[in-house]
Amino acid sequence: MAAAYEVLVDEEKRSIYDMHGKDGLSRGGRGGPDMDAADIFAQFFGGHPSFGFDFGPDAPGNRRGTGQDSIIPHEVTLEDLYNGKSVKMNMEKEVVCTVCKGSGARGNAKPKPCSTCDGAGSTHVKTRVCSDSAYGLSRARCTDCGGSGQRLKEKERCKKCKGEKTIHEKTRQEIFIEKGMTDRQRIVLAGAGDQEPGLPAGDVIFILKTNPHESFERSGNDLLTHVTITLSEALLGFSRIILTHLDGRGISLTSPRGKIIKPQDSIVIRGEGMPVYKHPQEKGDLYVIFDIEMPDQEWLRTVDVKSVEAILPPKRQNVDPLPEIVDEADFEESDIVDVRARSVPHSHNFFDHGFSSQFGDDEDDWEDDDDDDDDDHYGHGPDCPTQ
Ligand SMILES: [Zn+2]
Ligand SMILES: [Zn+2]
Repeated sequence: MAAAYEVLVDEEKRSIYDMHGKDGLSRGGRGGPDMDAADIFAQFFGGHPSFGFDFGPDAPGNRRGTGQDSIIPHEVTLEDLYNGKSVKMNMEKEVVCTVCKGSGARGNAKPKPCSTCDGAGSTHVKTRVCSDSAYGLSRARCTDCGGSGQRLKEKERCKKCKGEKTIHEKTRQEIFIEKGMTDRQRIVLAGAGDQEPGLPAGDVIFILKTNPHESFERSGNDLLTHVTITLSEALLGFSRIILTHLDGRGISLTSPRGKIIKPQDSIVIRGEGMPVYKHPQEKGDLYVIFDIEMPDQEWLRTVDVKSVEAILPPKRQNVDPLPEIVDEADFEESDIVDVRARSVPHSHNFFDHGFSSQFGDDEDDWEDDDDDDDDDHYGHGPDCPTQ
């Protein structure tokens, strides 16, 4: 299978490469020939590829009539998808040998029928059927000629490809990550994959995987971000650059006069979302959720507490109605995360956790054993005559 890896351009990538090799840069891109597309998917995206991905009859890699397709996962940042990017890739693939044009033969040498299989391409092998004493004959692909029925003598083989018909070639490809492309989108380089004599070359298919961004989340063409403002800004308003966008632009915002912003209040900034794929001049929206930073104790020490109290809204009174019995409690700080970890889940996620832990966490536990084909356990196949 063809492999590709991004050309090492910057120092950061070089150090990743030095530490983890090519796999560190592009896991999955180095999948060997035994690794199929589904394996690479599972390894790269986690989970089972059947969820959301259909490797049906046209699944890449098992297409008949062309050379092997290559699926290469490619990690991108949200900035890449916002701004677009061209990536130069070093590629390795099988190409048809130019010296023998894929015949594998030197000069005009003609292959002779394989002596092992008499040119049939397959040999009879004894297989055990039904019981230890009965044997049957079946055909297996000849290992000496690879099933072609023909063989070249050692000295008649093409010097360049050693009779293999293809050679390993390193090339360079450029892929374009277009503005607005989405996670798991495919970029197909038609015919850029492995070649086999007499067949159209396979495709190279890059599948984008977006790395999580530290400040933006994407949903379709919209973006979501959190902006932290101070208590003073929440109460009295602000006019400043509140964030740096994915293209490095600052976004400046003035809150409406007289507007108090409460924790988790959100606003929408139209047209500051992701560019629309193929229509990059159009953009989605940017949602901003405000987090409010409370002043710290240092601030409290520097102010006249009485005068702060005088300007703030009044404190609350006791609960109403007044309980008959009142106990005094201690104010002890706690780590709410710890409390949650200790508690038995029985609230909002009761149905997610409560039931599954009761009936087994793994859905596989429900797998029906009747599906198993037990025939092999008895040493005979379904073809055995019944007596
Ligand atoms: Zn050759
Ligand atoms: Zn043979």
